[in-house]
Amino acid sequence: MAQPLDLIVRNGVVVTAADTRRLDVGVRDGVVVALGTNLPEAPVLDASGCYVFPGFVDPHVHLQLRVGDIVSTDDFETGTVAAACGGVTTLADFTGNARGDDLAEGVRARWAEAEGRIAVDLALHLTLTDASETTLAALPALAAAGHTSAKLYMTYAGLRLDDGEMLRALAACHAQRILPLVHAENHDAVAYLTARLLAAGHSEPRYHPASRPPLVESEAAQRALALAAMVDAPVYLAHVTCRETLAAIAQARARGQQVVAETCPQYLALSSACFDAPGFEAAKYVCTPPLRPAGHGDALWTALAEDELQIVSTDHCPWNHEVEKQRGRDAFSQIPNGLPGVETRIPLLYGLGVAQARLSLQRFVAVAASEPARALGLFPRKGTIAVGSDADLAILDPRGTTTMQAAGLHQRVDYTPFEGWTVPGRLVATVSRGEVIVREGQFLGRRGRGRLLCRQPSPWA
Ligand SMILES: [Zn+2]
Repeated sequence: MAQPLDLIVRNGVVVTAADTRRLDVGVRDGVVVALGTNLPEAPVLDASGCYVFPGFVDPHVHLQLRVGDIVSTDDFETGTVAAACGGVTTLADFTGNARGDDLAEGVRARWAEAEGRIAVDLALHLTLTDASETTLAALPALAAAGHTSAKLYMTYAGLRLDDGEMLRALAACHAQRILPLVHAENHDAVAYLTARLLAAGHSEPRYHPASRPPLVESEAAQRALALAAMVDAPVYLAHVTCRETLAAIAQARARGQQVVAETCPQYLALSSACFDAPGFEAAKYVCTPPLRPAGHGDALWTALAEDELQIVSTDHCPWNHEVEKQRGRDAFSQIPNGLPGVETRIPLLYGLGVAQARLSLQRFVAVAASEPARALGLFPRKGTIAVGSDADLAILDPRGTTTMQAAGLHQRVDYTPFEGWTVPGRLVATVSRGEVIVREGQFLGRRGRGRLLCRQPSPWA
């Protein structure tokens, strides 16, 4: 007789990037071991009337990120609990090493911060803050240890790589099948435009988008893609916000390049009209790249539906409006960049995407679970529901609704950019490796239960 199951998710509609089927999901030892009907008796999680999605994957978050003397307000505990409550079972954050630091030590130090605190599973992207021989020589061992992606910044003092460094870093990553994630903005253009705005007395938050217009992003994206082409490397473009960058991606693909591209809910759902908010209220919307004029968002939705964009992450990087954001009272350039969103991504993407027929159910799962898992080198262990996959599930009731209010969210920050929004669909449970860690908005799991994920190379690397 077959071994007993630990859990059956019963009577739900199982949705993957490939299909939609009415199936029960049988779980043993944290893994999906059976899909079908008439599974043997076991403890049941009833999913009648609900969709059973793969646990969602957010490949781009910044928990307890140190920026100068401040730290983003969600730590590994609060941020991962918020993620779980938002249907997310896998996160990827970044190492925090500075220029010249030892990369392996960067992984060790960041993992030491996360270990014992994370509520869901975590991958760490390497951060390549320089492209010295010593730094690049550390890549083979790190890739072999399962750290198969790296962030390359083209802006931010102390983080950015110049073009020569980009070339060396892209080539070195490619040689180890490490997928390079690129933050594309023209550093010198940002510095020039910011100084010009401030000199003209334009210091309020609403001038932030003008300091980093679409061309600042698309020029850097185009350059990153050209540099990558010279060394035959793939590129994962982080947080694409505008039509101009979509055009750069299309051009690179037309010449045969491997490009993976990501956007975030704020670029889909919000626009620079948010900066019409009175006074310093607008600081709530300062992130980089900035929110764009209405119209770009529609182009991003279309690009997602048509597989020109593959991934929706959050770039979750929360700062309290009443505390850290206040640093920019006198100059928008001093406002810490970033928006909260790790808990609201899935409700927004389902409610504005699937429920409004911008995304099919399959495409929704692809952009929020399967493709991020593929980019991370975790598919099919993560990002799908199949026999042998980790039993990571998110159960959503399409008959319910979700109202987003900072006071009701688990994110540790004093606002949400989506305050008061109500969207169709309601997450009712999150399962991580077979354990029901969220029911009806209540976190039931144990902090510290999350694991560091060692990964395969992405098939895109
Ligand atoms: Zn980021």
